[in-house]
Amino acid sequence: MSLEASAGVDIPLYRPTHLADAIALLQEHEDARPLGGGQTLVSMLSLGYAQPSAIVALGNLPELRGISRSDDGSVRIGAMTTHAELAACRSFAGGQALLTSAASQIADPAIRNFGTIGGACAHGDSVADWPPALVAADARMLVHGPDGAREIKACDFFVNLLTTALKPAELLIAIVIPAIEGHGRYRKLARVEGDFATVSVAATAASAGGACTSVAIAIGACGPRPVRLAQAEALLIGRPFNEGLAIEVGQLLADAIDPISDVRGSAAYRKRVLPRLVAQSIQELLA
Ligand SMILES: Cc1cc2nc3c(=O)[nH]c(=O)nc-3n(C[C@H](O)[C@H](O)[C@H](O)COP(=O)(O)OP(=O)(O)OC[C@H]3O[C@@H](n4cnc5c(N)ncnc54)[C@H](O)[C@@H]3O)c2cc1C
Repeated sequence: MSLEASAGVDIPLYRPTHLADAIALLQEHEDARPLGGGQTLVSMLSLGYAQPSAIVALGNLPELRGISRSDDGSVRIGAMTTHAELAACRSFAGGQALLTSAASQIADPAIRNFGTIGGACAHGDSVADWPPALVAADARMLVHGPDGAREIKACDFFVNLLTTALKPAELLIAIVIPAIEGHGRYRKLARVEGDFATVSVAATAASAGGACTSVAIAIGACGPRPVRLAQAEALLIGRPFNEGLAIEVGQLLADAIDPISDVRGSAAYRKRVLPRLVAQSIQELLA
């Protein structure tokens, strides 16, 4: 079987049912591309931005499917899980709710029904919603390639603009979300509903006796990769929470980001709105 790309070029399409065969195909065909939900790759093919020597569809690989919860509270998400499945998922507890919150704000229902968490992460777009959400959740990315399996922390997976830690012929197989206490929420500022983020804040937090006991905050769309700042999170731990403190934390993060100016907003605008957005997120989680 083959796919017709731009300019009438036929590209061989493979549908392996075993992980080892998929990896072998990716090794065999230089410049072969895995196919997830196709929401990004098919547009790139149509526009001529990608001209792979072969396409390896991942839909028949059981290792990449399903969502399962373990006894320790961690949740394993197969890379072929769609955004819509994650938005409707009931396996998350406590701060893991960040995941459903992020999934439900990606694009529009049509794209959520086909686009996968694996494809979105492998693409590594700096304005996408999964990178900050997974960095804030301390997710672990399970990868398989010619040299076997390896695990990469989400904070090390997203390396740069459209660049991840995946090596040639490696596939993202699954993502593991550890148990997270407290609450989680994804806050996205976009020009219109369904657009990519202008600025986003992924956060989880827990409190006891009026003071914050744990917190994680990752900023999206404000640089080539998500930004997380230990110093900003440490400022909240063990202290009685108030709005002034929340703004202070937001300002620290605004000072740490290095956004660009683009059609979605200027760098100055992004830096200006971030402190208030962070404060709203923390207030909502710790209230
Ligand atoms: C109009 C539009 C609006 C969008 N809005 C948003 C938005 O608001 N927020 C957001 O986050 N995203 C948005 N997206 C992107 C969307 O989330 C896509 O689902 C995502 O970018 C790609 O997922 P996919 O499964 O379709 O991957 P594909 O298009 O199939 O693949 C994308 C890339 O990843 C590679 N790949 C796929 N799966 C794997 C894997 N398991 N291992 C290794 N490599 C793999 C492919 O070879 C390709 O290079 C939007 C897309 C469109 C078209």
